[in-house]
Amino acid sequence: MVLEGLGSRISGALRKMTDSTVIDETALKEMLKEINHALLEADVNIKSVVQLRKNVTERVKLEELAAGVNKRKVIQKAVFDELCSMLDPGTAPVTLKRGKPNVVMFVGLQGNGKTTSCVKYAYYHQRKGWKACLVCADTFRAGAFDQLKQNATKAKVPFFGSYTETDPVKIATDGVNRFKNEGYDLIIVDTSGRHKQEEALFAEMEQMAESVNPTDIIFVMDSAIGQAAYDQALAFRAKVKVGSVIITKLDGHAKGGGALSAVSATKSPITFIGTGEHIDEFEPFKTQAFVGRLLG
Ligand code: GDP
Repeated sequence: MVLEGLGSRISGALRKMTDSTVIDETALKEMLKEINHALLEADVNIKSVVQLRKNVTERVKLEELAAGVNKRKVIQKAVFDELCSMLDPGTAPVTLKRGKPNVVMFVGLQGNGKTTSCVKYAYYHQRKGWKACLVCADTFRAGAFDQLKQNATKAKVPFFGSYTETDPVKIATDGVNRFKNEGYDLIIVDTSGRHKQEEALFAEMEQMAESVNPTDIIFVMDSAIGQAAYDQALAFRAKVKVGSVIITKLDGHAKGGGALSAVSATKSPITFIGTGEHIDEFEPFKTQAFVGRLLG
């Protein structure tokens, strides 16, 4: 069975309501039920789901609406706004301080776009005047350092890594210390996304975080992840203090409904999105545009 994406299910429920001849309490309830199901199946946390239903119901009092008011539009707007607030975890993004040695660690499973996002993030900030640099602490994947090196060179961002050292924690610590001594104010650490065993991956990540004491930890997630988003994000959040989320590959077909789950699991805001393979295909996250696309 092919599972329909969260965005399509929500927009489907909205469309069904819009297409029905009479917009009454029954149609509204039916629509909210479907949206709730879709959100719960995507593992969005239950509290947020219940809140959405409650808020929309409280906001849309159909019998109180003046004649001539477009009920469909009122309902659509209420759902839209509620989805926007679901993407707001209620915690502010970590602020980086200019002139201080901010260390930002990137975590996420292999293939989600972590290395690409590290370089994009460095490039984005470099253009805004930050003294950015990259540390490759992925010793597990052969070619990881070469990939980072190649992309960093293209972006003209200084990098640190090793072909001989096998301890990623040591590389991260050495790289961070070196760049700190050289006065960099944005030191980005790329970590491994795969290991012999998942436990080893998380243990390594924990040790690294302890050693480099990051200002922020960014969880990188592919927009196509779908149902697995919540568990994956939670697994990372359980081990390290994730402070931000980056959603990648939004140039593809995926609507990125998993983002709602990632926010709910990590209780962290989405800060950037990846919209292509190129270094400049990276933008600050804009909630309304994202929800518009999710429902589009
Ligand atoms: P990592 O294993 O998590 O470090 O993932 P990589 O950074 O190596 O990315 C895996 C693949 O996804 C590569 O082929 C990247 O070019 C591609 N990729 C990363 N971000 C994006 C994006 O925003 N859009 C597209 N289309 N591809 C991306």
